[in-house]
Amino acid sequence: MEIKLFNTMSRSVEVFKPLEEGKVSIYTCGPTVYHFAHIGNLRTYVSQDIMKRMFKANGYDVKHIMNITDVGHLTSDGDTGEDKMEKGSRREGKSVWEIAKYYTDIFMSDIKKLNILPATKYTPATQYIQEQIDLVKKLEDLGYTYKIEGDGIYYDTSKFADYWKLGGQKLDDLKAGARIEFSDGKRNPSDFALWKFSPKDVKRQMEWDSPWGVGFPGWHIECSAMSLAEIGERMDIHSGGVDHIKVHHTNEIAQVEPVVGHRWVNYWVHMEFLNDLSGKMSKSKGDFLTLSLLESKGYSAIVYRYFLLLASYRKQLNFSYELLDGAKNSYENLVKRVGVILKDADANFDKSAVEKWKNRILETLNNDLNTAGVIVILQELLKSDESTSTKVELLKFFDDILGLKLLENAKALSDNSNNIIPVEITKMAEERLTAKKAKNYALADELRNKISDAGFVVEDTATGFNIKIK
Ligand code: AMP
Ligand code: ZN
Repeated sequence: MEIKLFNTMSRSVEVFKPLEEGKVSIYTCGPTVYHFAHIGNLRTYVSQDIMKRMFKANGYDVKHIMNITDVGHLTSDGDTGEDKMEKGSRREGKSVWEIAKYYTDIFMSDIKKLNILPATKYTPATQYIQEQIDLVKKLEDLGYTYKIEGDGIYYDTSKFADYWKLGGQKLDDLKAGARIEFSDGKRNPSDFALWKFSPKDVKRQMEWDSPWGVGFPGWHIECSAMSLAEIGERMDIHSGGVDHIKVHHTNEIAQVEPVVGHRWVNYWVHMEFLNDLSGKMSKSKGDFLTLSLLESKGYSAIVYRYFLLLASYRKQLNFSYELLDGAKNSYENLVKRVGVILKDADANFDKSAVEKWKNRILETLNNDLNTAGVIVILQELLKSDESTSTKVELLKFFDDILGLKLLENAKALSDNSNNIIPVEITKMAEERLTAKKAKNYALADELRNKISDAGFVVEDTATGFNIKIK
């Protein structure tokens, strides 16, 4: 079946054609491990996870490499400021290596909670220093670099004619917008560091020897060097958040294409941002939302995942607790409904019906990862006249592609609770009983409907009432 994805390079939705039949290679830019990932970062990884699951559901063999940035990412994308890792180290009074390990572990635990499938390989930048030096050397031999005394080796972006092809912006716009701070001595505002020298007066915790002197790699070179090492000179998909289009990914192309001499990446897939109320969510603001914070407020990671899947990965999404509450209710209702059908299901499902539904689901998902459309089909299936066994068979498929753990959570709900009714539902049922006794039937009906909307049925008994899961 056809797969369509929006390619930032062509600015259009394209039919996906793999480099090699039945296989897909994906490189995604991973976290800078100097702090917690915020829930905006995690949105990007969830979107990428859906992309991987989509390929798997279409029978592809997926090779996925994700880097861990543990050196060289400076606080300004313009190669000025402090190394984020050193900053984290000072903030917490730990070594940069401890910081990297601590935040990498938390990142791994966050993505596991979000049911994000693990990458084929995670590549920490500090384990690929030689590959990065070798790539800078090649660029130097080809004449793309220059040295700024006391600062580093820089890439001369005026030497690469296609430099603006991904971001589409013009040099003049860049100057006028002054998005990037100038480092003294840069030939062009868009030039960037390939290798930074360690400062003379300060001993850095992470530094290496190189043909140009002791120092550390620039941030952009790591992804180019590691993807060349792990995937090769051509890849199907390179992905990251939309903020990477104009600087990081633009620079990555400039570092690779002159060296390999041809197009490097076939599809550039960029994930849109999650915003908080003040606009863009960012770690540098200090006070940001983490998955653990959501959990401490009673929202599970899977509820957050469900909230994300209700929107298109290509649209900005605003975060609010009201919206998250809505997603939580809706997810919990789904789980309850699944719990009910689970009880009567057996292995005798209708094969042709399952095929029909699966095709519809895939067609929707393959259309540029339309997860919201898939959730609509899920609701439709649950309301449909299909047998419970057919529904359960399809729920396995929904779980494979959406990763929402519907079956697992529904089973846990019925195993653990066997009818544990939330307090607020019991309270509503009590209020309904009081209303009935007072002959306020309008209120009694209203409460019955509310209880029903939450996925429960209230029945009158001789002594009061009984509540059941629908
Ligand atoms: P970082 O750890 O800052 O290198 O970012 C990790 C990933 O999260 C990158 O792919 C970024 O493009 C992405 N990202 C950063 N901020 C946001 C946000 N507010 N919403 C969604 N993705 C983001
Ligand atoms: Zn990258």
